[in-house]
Amino acid sequence: MPVGPGEVWVVIEQEGGRAEPVSWELMGEAAALARKLGARPAAVILGSAGRQLSSAAFSSGAEVAYLVEHPDLEPYTADPHCQALVELAEKFTPQIILLGATTRGRDLASAAATELETGLTADCTRLDIDTTKKLLRQTRPAFGGNVMATIITPHHLPQIATVRPGVFTAPQPVEGVSGETVVLKPHIKATATAVKQLQFVPNPDTGVTLKGAKVIVAGGRGLKAGRNFALLEELAAELGGEVGASRGAVDAGWISQHRQVGQTGQTVRPVLYFAVGISGAVQHLAGMQESDVIVAINNDPEAPIFEVADYGIVGDLFEVMPAMIGEVRQRKLAAGAAASPALLKQGGAMRMEAGTGGESE
Ligand SMILES: Cc1cc2nc3c(=O)[nH]c(=O)nc-3n(C[C@H](O)[C@H](O)[C@H](O)COP(=O)(O)OP(=O)(O)OC[C@H]3O[C@@H](n4cnc5c(N)ncnc54)[C@H](O)[C@@H]3O)c2cc1C
Repeated sequence: MPVGPGEVWVVIEQEGGRAEPVSWELMGEAAALARKLGARPAAVILGSAGRQLSSAAFSSGAEVAYLVEHPDLEPYTADPHCQALVELAEKFTPQIILLGATTRGRDLASAAATELETGLTADCTRLDIDTTKKLLRQTRPAFGGNVMATIITPHHLPQIATVRPGVFTAPQPVEGVSGETVVLKPHIKATATAVKQLQFVPNPDTGVTLKGAKVIVAGGRGLKAGRNFALLEELAAELGGEVGASRGAVDAGWISQHRQVGQTGQTVRPVLYFAVGISGAVQHLAGMQESDVIVAINNDPEAPIFEVADYGIVGDLFEVMPAMIGEVRQRKLAAGAAASPALLKQGGAMRMEAGTGGESE
């Protein structure tokens, strides 16, 4: 088989044949890393959907697709997946394995790294190749997000890293490309199936779609109380967006953790991001600073959020938000169409009028 050492692998996370978007984001990045190494990028698809997903893998940059098939790989449990991935890695000796920093990816990456006795760098925000030493440079926030650390795994292979969804952009699929397909049946020990999934109960708040949202209106501790998020919901509804939050607001119990943006929340890159009553701590910025346009509303002119904002409004959010909602409504009426981020830019800066104040607890 013409597969040799040194490939850059991405474990494609899938459920019933539907891949997690982070897998394609990583496939594009793996192709770029592999080019620098002179190696081949490969997709590893564990479970029965391999044949279904391999063409998507090729069109996203894979040159090889490993289809690892075994009845114990559906539904996902850690042990069979770990055994299958370890067996595959021992056989084909990749240099690098990338996984999404999702619940499942984190679970599998740590188990596989332990079995393979190699290093794992979790939650990377940047990957690169040291072309002299041919090593993966894995950058991630450290010491509470106050420094960015670049980590290497110089003495062990494969180098394993997880990357959070949204950090990289998925490549534009190139239709009609194909590659090499390798089908394998792993040896999964009976002891690996001790854990069985009896029932799948979806989290009621997983309908939150911050990742794909074009507009996010996020609030922080400046909102003073959970009920004041209604102001953000109003603006988000007018703009067809979603409501996000800082960890400060989540920790206060005002809003679900599924809406948290930042280092320990979600990484988002909408067209338009409103930071309302959010100070702009580095851990928050880590999740939103790639947004196309950032609008910050804060009554402290020294708030760090203004350093990343494209538009900064220094003022009391309880006055600014009702005025902004009113202005958006007026423009929608005047335009006779649904508001869009472009609408907000029409006619330059918006005229603000003081509205009613919010309530605090
Ligand atoms: C390991 C680690 C991971 C973390 N992960 C995350 C993360 O993923 N996401 C995240 O967000 N944080 C994260 N944090 C926490 C982060 O350090 C900050 O504590 C948090 O982001 C602060 O939230 P905040 O901006 O809402 O609150 P604050 O820092 O208290 O800021 C509130 C802001 O509201 C403004 N304000 C107050 N009243 C008004 C008003 N009436 N009108 C306008 N503005 C007003 C204030 O001027 C202030 O700037 C993490 C911390 C650590 C240590």
